[in-house]
Amino acid sequence: MFLDTRVLRHLTAEDWRVLTAVEMGSKNHELVPTPLIERIARLKGGASGVHKSIATLAKSGLIGRMKEAKYDGYRLTYGGLDYLALHTHSSKDVVYSVGSRVGVGKESDIMIVADKTGKQKILKIHRLGRISFRTVKSNRDYLRNRQGGSWMYLSRLAAMKEYAFMQALQEEGFPVPEPISQSRHTIVMSLVESLPLRQVSSVPDPASLYAELIDLILRLAKHGLIHGDFNEFNILIKEERTNKYTIEDGEEKEEETVTLVPIIIDFPQMVSMDHVNAEMYFDRDVECIKRFFKKRFHFVPTSPGPFFKDAKKTVGKDGARRLDAAVEASGFTKKMLKELEKAIEEQQAKIDAGEAVAEDEELEDDEEDDDEDNSDDEEDEEDGQEEEVQAVFEIPASVGRPVED
Ligand code: ADP
Ligand code: MG
Repeated sequence: MFLDTRVLRHLTAEDWRVLTAVEMGSKNHELVPTPLIERIARLKGGASGVHKSIATLAKSGLIGRMKEAKYDGYRLTYGGLDYLALHTHSSKDVVYSVGSRVGVGKESDIMIVADKTGKQKILKIHRLGRISFRTVKSNRDYLRNRQGGSWMYLSRLAAMKEYAFMQALQEEGFPVPEPISQSRHTIVMSLVESLPLRQVSSVPDPASLYAELIDLILRLAKHGLIHGDFNEFNILIKEERTNKYTIEDGEEKEEETVTLVPIIIDFPQMVSMDHVNAEMYFDRDVECIKRFFKKRFHFVPTSPGPFFKDAKKTVGKDGARRLDAAVEASGFTKKMLKELEKAIEEQQAKIDAGEAVAEDEELEDDEEDDDEDNSDDEEDEEDGQEEEVQAVFEIPASVGRPVED
């Protein structure tokens, strides 16, 4: 499933109100009873064609019925939540048009978007619950105990966490994309014109790039953080060109120097240096870089380490602000961190055990749009991140007009 903006232009104000009503109802109901949708929508805008809107939204796949439901009701689909988020971003003038998808992971979709001035940005849509569990329907306590351990809640947590960390890291001068806006399960950030390290076949000086990346790991540690997924997909390499002018034999010469600047992305799994498994995460990040540099650039550092125990001693030193604490203070509580972490772990365990099914399989057939693309998508998710970055610099259509893809 990916963002499909074709239906956007058909939606009336009434449809939006009903869609919002379903979202509001979802806070307390996994399946929002139809009478409740009617009531919330009417409260917001007077009686009228709520039913017509429900039909339109269901037909467009923005809300769905569930198979074997005990009562008549609807729930938001990913599509519905995507639309609500886009609506918010566009009302804040952050997003005007939606372009192509640059990447798809197991847990996110990455789209190029642009504002009214044509400035391009990245929309990251968290899809933590893209996979749901067969057992969910028969075991509703599972959801209740976790206070909506639903995909909607978890994806929103992932987006909130990522946004909070991106903001804190940016404030501290770390090389990260600029966080622009967050709504529900999505964030908008600046587009980094770059290639993921994964797609970089050679660099002039592997030793210095390696040192820079290790330095980033240590700088994060000093601020109390471990990236947790510091791999060649999550490090973007930007080329910065500078021109140097020199006078040689009375003649002016221009020399271009290219510097490679690493930018770090992807923060939902970041952990504190105080985490019980901090050492494991730290070592894994270091190993990841070492392995990649050896394989890709045949570079092996001369000295071992860096080691967790040394990094641990630097936490908060020299007046370094604890960003793990700062993020918590910004409203992302320990409880939320735990919930998110637990959900990611549980989900992974279910996937490993082969118990997971694609989210949309639970929708009734007649509400599934003919172009649902689960099967194809799920297949290339593993290597989806390898999609060409260059292929995206085009905005085919604006929000409110159909997207040809
Ligand atoms: P996931 O959580 O699915 O791994 P990421 O945040 O790592 O998502 O993004 C996936 C891919 O999308 C990256 O490997 C990169 O190619 C591209 N990407 C993400 N954010 C940006 C950005 N701000 N600028 C340019 N490319 C980006
Ligand atoms: Mg990633």
